[in-house]
This record gives sequence, structure tokens and C-alpha cells, in this order.
Amino acid sequence: MLEICKICGSSKTEFIGFKNNSRLIRCKQCGVIYVESPPSWDIIESRYNNDYHCYSEAVSLPKEIIYDYFLKEIKRIKGLKILDVGCGMGEFLELVVDNEGKPYGIEFSDYASDFVAKKGIKVCNQNAEGKFCYDSKLFDIVTMWDVIEHLYNPGKALSEINRVLKKDGFLILSTPNFSGLTRLLFGFNAYQISLPEHLFYFNLDSIKNILNKHGFRIIKAKSIHLFLTNFFSFKKNGILHNEVESKPKNFLLSKYLKLIIQNKIIKYFFVYSIKLIDLFLDFFKRGDLILIYARKVR
Ligand SMILES: [Zn+2]
Repeated sequence: MLEICKICGSSKTEFIGFKNNSRLIRCKQCGVIYVESPPSWDIIESRYNNDYHCYSEAVSLPKEIIYDYFLKEIKRIKGLKILDVGCGMGEFLELVVDNEGKPYGIEFSDYASDFVAKKGIKVCNQNAEGKFCYDSKLFDIVTMWDVIEHLYNPGKALSEINRVLKKDGFLILSTPNFSGLTRLLFGFNAYQISLPEHLFYFNLDSIKNILNKHGFRIIKAKSIHLFLTNFFSFKKNGILHNEVESKPKNFLLSKYLKLIIQNKIIKYFFVYSIKLIDLFLDFFKRGDLILIYARKVR
């Protein structure tokens, strides 16, 4: 017998497939997808050791794109109190500092929270599903970058975020898109289906449902950035960037592509093709990453 939905409590759930011995269940009511019996915290915690990719000091390319989006949407953050839930090594909070905002973090990893605290940033070493160490109605903005899919109970974290946000405060988050093109092309082999770490999977409809349930109204929702286009990215560290020497990690073909893209026409063709693909994907809600900009309404 299938259990009731972990988000909305509906009993209308269906089994949609297996991966790594985990059963994935979809709720027909709210659309969320989740791992039926998640591994124990001991097992998951052992995956988040100091070598876990989120605890590297380098800012990854998708993160760079996410932060660009944030700065574009929130044009002026000077003086604003901003809490980053699951702040990792604090790279986003440093960007807050650079833009004269007031940074605060929550991070469960001892290693990462020590690292952030050493930068002089206030960070609480705690799990995102417990009661936050911060007072109610303290923050102008809360961010949560690729964290919600890792939680046992995303509703608990959203309730706490609602509590610590000021009236009309903003929640801005990202999470992989279960309905993204890469996921559709590669099925359960897509990078989004990352087990045992990713316990929940959303698309633009189901993320809207869970946010509404917890007192948020979405102002803007986008799906961006096809994972495959990452390969051809022209952002910093990318192969189309002029300073290719800044080592494009993981780009096996980069050496050869570098030779090709030295031709300006080809370069611009790539750049604009990628932009066009991203526009197209967003229109059909098929980008690989969901970006949400929501307001606290109750
Ligand atoms: Zn549901």
C-alpha cells in the first residue's frame, strides 16, 4: 500500500519507478515526487563529508548563474538582512557582503559552518529542518539554493523560513526541475535524480503548491539553464570565455573547442544559440533548474 503524500497528505499517490533501490512516488494531488522510504540520517550524513561537491571553495558554474539571477532580480540589497539556508561554504553570503547587505547563514556541516564563521559571517551550525536559531520576522530575504530537494520534510523548513521573514519578505530558491529536458531525455539516469541525497523532486507546478501551502505567493518562476548547455557555457570558466586558461574543469573537449571558437562568428553563433535554447526551454517549463522568487503573504 502506498503511503500518504508527505507534502499535502493526499492518499492519491502512485509509484513511478526505482533508482538505487529507492522507490519514487508521485502525488496525483500536489504533483510532488519523493523517495518513499528515505535512508537514515547516518547514511545520508556520511555522503555529506568534507569532500562533498557543495563543500568545495570554488563557485560552480550553475551557482554563478543563480547568483547572477539573484542580483538581477534584487537590484539593491544594501542594508537588507539576508539569510541563506544551507549556506555551504558561504560563497553566496560573500556576494551579499560585497553588495553591502547583511549576511546570515544556517549550515549543518561543522566543517562548512566553521569555514563561513571564519569569514566573520554569523552562521548557525544546525539542520534546516529544526527550529532556526534566529528571531521571528528578522529577515528581508531568505535564500535556499538547491537545498529543498535534500530535506526529509521541506514543509518544516518552509514554515521556519516563513517565521523568520519580515511581513512581505521574500524567499528566493532554486531546485532541479523534474520536468526539465535533461531529466526527460535521460529518465532516471539524469543528474537531477541523485540518490540518496535528493529526497524530493519538483516541477514549476508542484513547487508552487508547496509554497502556497506554507504562506508564500510566487511572484516570478522560471526554469533555466539546460544542463547540456553548461558544456558550451560562455560564462566565466566556460570554454567560450576568452580566458580559457582558467581551466574549464570537466570539459573534455575544451581543448579542441577552444580552437574552433577562436573564430568570432562561430563563437557568437554558440552564444546566441544557447540563449535561444534557454528562452525556448523556459517558455515550455523545461529548463533544468527552477528559480523561484516568492513573497510571504501570511
Ligand atoms: Zn501531495
